[in-house]
Amino acid sequence: MDQVDCIVAGAGVVGLAIARRLARSGREVIVLEEAEAIGTGTSSRNSEVIHAGIYYAAGSMMARMCVSGKAALYDYSRDHHVPHRNFGKLIVATRPDEVDKLQSIKARAEANGVGDLQLLSDKAACTLEPALNCEAALLSPSTGIVDSHALMLSLRGEAEAAGAVFAFHAPLLQARVRGSGIEIDVGGEAPMSLKCRLLINAAGLAATTLARRIDGMPLDRIPPAYLAKGNYFSCSARSPFSHLIYPVPEPGGLGVHLTLDLAGQAKFGPDVEWIDSVDYVVDPQRANRFYPAIRRYWPGLPDGALMPGYAGIRPKIVPPAVAVQDFVIQGPREHGVTGLINLFGIESPGLTSCLAIADHVADLTQA
Ligand SMILES: Cc1cc2nc3c(=O)[nH]c(=O)nc-3n(C[C@H](O)[C@H](O)[C@H](O)COP(=O)(O)OP(=O)(O)OC[C@H]3O[C@@H](n4cnc5c(N)ncnc54)[C@H](O)[C@@H]3O)c2cc1C
Repeated sequence: MDQVDCIVAGAGVVGLAIARRLARSGREVIVLEEAEAIGTGTSSRNSEVIHAGIYYAAGSMMARMCVSGKAALYDYSRDHHVPHRNFGKLIVATRPDEVDKLQSIKARAEANGVGDLQLLSDKAACTLEPALNCEAALLSPSTGIVDSHALMLSLRGEAEAAGAVFAFHAPLLQARVRGSGIEIDVGGEAPMSLKCRLLINAAGLAATTLARRIDGMPLDRIPPAYLAKGNYFSCSARSPFSHLIYPVPEPGGLGVHLTLDLAGQAKFGPDVEWIDSVDYVVDPQRANRFYPAIRRYWPGLPDGALMPGYAGIRPKIVPPAVAVQDFVIQGPREHGVTGLINLFGIESPGLTSCLAIADHVADLTQA
C-alpha cells in the first residue's frame, strides 16, 4: 500500500486553508474531494461576511478564531488581490426594549477583543443610513465582505504551488487506525487504498459521518449532527444602504439581515430552518416571513422585491433547543488517535476563521 504524509478530506474553504498551510510548511499533502470541484458545499452557500467577532462567548474557539482570522483574512485578501470590501455593519434596535441589548452586545464584543464598536443614537444611525428605521444602533467598522470563490481559488493555487495534489470525485469512504498510521479507502473514479501519517477530516456537513467510518476513532468523542438550513432572498430593488444591516440577534441565529455583494446589491437571510436531510431548495413562501422582519429596519422595502436566492446548511452539533455551539477541533489529546484531526461544527464564522483554523490545525500536528 502506498504511503503518503497528509490527507485532507474535503476541499471547502477550511480544507483548502489547511492544505495550503501544511503544504507551505513542507509537508506532502493530498486533498480528497468527493465533488467535482473545490468549494461546492457550505463554502459557496453563505453570506461571505468577514465577521468582526462580536457575538461569540468570551474565550470560545469561535471568538478566538474569528478575531484572529478576520485580521489574517483582510491581510491575505489585500496581499493576494482577493476582492473584498470593508463595508462596516450596523446592528439595529428597532424596538425600545432592544436598546439595552446593544450595550450587552458591545460588552461581549469587547470581551472578545473587538474594541471598535460605537453606540449610535437613532439620529446618528439615520445620518449614516437615511433609509433606516431604528431606535439606536451599534456600528461595527471592521465587518466586511469577501469574494469566497476568489479566496478559495487563491488558497488552492497556493497549496498546489507548494506541492499539494488535489483529487476530485474522490470520496474518502472509510479508514482504519493502524499502529504507524491510518489506512484509508478512496472511492469514486479511481478507487484506491493509501496509508497516511496524518488525516484531517474537514468534510463539513459530512464530518461526523466520516468520523464514524474511521475504525479506531472512539464513537463517544463524535458529536451528534443536525442540519440548520438558512434561506436567502435576493432583492430586485436598488439598495439604499452602504453598510450591512443586522437586527438584534434572535435565539438560534442572527436574524434576517441585509448583506451586500461587492457591487453593492442587497440580499437578505439567512433564516433558520431545521431539516432532516440536505436540501437546498428555497421555498418562495418563506418570503412572507422575510418582508415583516426586513421592514422593521427598512420600512421602504417595496412589495414584490424579494426573489428566492439560494440556501446554505449549518453543520450543527447541538440540537435546536441549545442552538449555540462552538467549533470542535479534535486532535489526539481529545480522542486519543495519533495522526487524526477532526473538525466538527464549523459553521459561521468558519469562512472568516479559515486561516486561523488552519494555523491551529498546524499547531495540533506539532503537539
Ligand atoms: C447559511 C450560512 C451562512 C454563513 N455565513 C457566513 C459568513 O457570512 N461568514 C463566515 O465567516 N461564515 C459563514 N458561514 C460559515 C461558513 O460558510 C462555513 O463555516 C465554511 O464554509 C465551512 O467550510 P468547510 O470547508 O468546513 O465545509 P464545506 O464548504 O462544506 O466543505 C466540505 C467539503 O468536504 C467534501 N466532503 C464531504 N465528505 C467527503 C468525503 N467523505 N470525502 C471527501 N470529501 C468530502 C464536501 O464535498 C465539501 O466540498 C455560513 C454558513 C452558512 C450555512
